[in-house]
Amino acid sequence: MKAFATRQLHAGARGAVPIYQTTSYVFDDSAHAAAAFALEDLETHAYTRLSNPTTVVVEERIAALEGGTAAVAVGSGQAATSLALLNLARAGDHLVAAASLYGGTHTLLSTTFAELGIDVTFVQDPDDLDAWRSAITPRTRALFGESIGNPLGNVLDLAAVAAVAHDAGLPLVVDNTVPTPYLLRPLEHGADIVVHSTTKFLAGHGTAIGGIVVDGGRFDFGTDPARWPGLTAPDRTYNGLSFWDRFPGFAYAMRLRTRLLRDLGPAPSPFNSSLLLQGIETLDLRLARHVRNAAAVAQFLAAHPAVERVHHPSLPSSPWHAAAQRYLPDGAGAVLAFEIRGGRAAGARFIDALGLFSHLANIGDVRSLAIHPASTTHAQLDPAEQLASGVTPGLVRLSVGIEGIDDLLADLDQALGGTP
Ligand SMILES: *Cc1c(COP(=O)(O)O)cnc(C)c1O
Repeated sequence: MKAFATRQLHAGARGAVPIYQTTSYVFDDSAHAAAAFALEDLETHAYTRLSNPTTVVVEERIAALEGGTAAVAVGSGQAATSLALLNLARAGDHLVAAASLYGGTHTLLSTTFAELGIDVTFVQDPDDLDAWRSAITPRTRALFGESIGNPLGNVLDLAAVAAVAHDAGLPLVVDNTVPTPYLLRPLEHGADIVVHSTTKFLAGHGTAIGGIVVDGGRFDFGTDPARWPGLTAPDRTYNGLSFWDRFPGFAYAMRLRTRLLRDLGPAPSPFNSSLLLQGIETLDLRLARHVRNAAAVAQFLAAHPAVERVHHPSLPSSPWHAAAQRYLPDGAGAVLAFEIRGGRAAGARFIDALGLFSHLANIGDVRSLAIHPASTTHAQLDPAEQLASGVTPGLVRLSVGIEGIDDLLADLDQALGGTP
């Protein structure tokens, strides 16, 4: 296999990739069209809601970086998580998820999935393997967690949670947004499906919303086919074919594209796919600076008298320091959170005093970003759910960019009221 730095530039394409800014594609003749619609011809593009030549390069490239067999790009990270789980669970089914999740994902699972008839049990302490095990019921169809939790930086013990899932005959789905495949590849540690918000570090420049689902290709849906009828039973919208029988190695990805993306429709724009490709081309260079700056910011804040507590797995004080050394040898990501002395009011003053850090609701931009989760990204959660996600009233979240580190530290210091 070629080096990561080579794959991020070349996988899926040779040279620069044009933007196929088109909705649909001319067929050679009616047999050609019919073969494409019947999934007999997988090379032909029919309609951009299903596939697009620019987006295919994104899919092949990210599959190559994660070590998956196939990937399906969608319009946002939320769409990626939604389709990844709807491909495994339907009304009456059940999922088990870590409680420490991106706020939007927590709300999706606790509210919208509940309304669809899919129950989710949240594991309050994702390090407690017995809690994962005892949450599983005969109706459970998948386990779900984030490789690095946003905002606390909790590192999931992927190998251990994957073992719990596999002992119960279930796949593990992992949101790998925060580390990106440069820092961590969950499929190498037993995960079965990977999802990303490509909006963040993968695209990297704060310009394009996007998401992707990567199929690891190894989970055996055929052992207990009755659990996953969508994947294994005849599909009446495709002349009764079974995805599992017909597309070995990438049945999960094929069904996600040709049923869920087809029917629910959250397709990415080819223009955004082009922006994403350009971002991926420098992923390793950017991430190396991101994680170096983030570790320096974490150390600086941990030593600052105005700061009560810093959450970043690079710090020896982090409960996930050992897990980070095992799973994240090249750096523990660039999202960190900290608690200012003085709680919510001090947090608001700090955010308003920042000069270089932008105050906005994103992570993974080349520029440094700051936000107050309790009043923004996690505001839809009630206070108890906020606390379960690790969001205390005075918590500030930073996404550390690739600026000069001395300028970042000076901005943080002045916003904290200076070092006495
Ligand atoms: C941002 C984010 C999402 C949602 O992605 P969008 O692209 O904003 O829809 C999901 N998971 C994590 C960890 C995120 O940071």
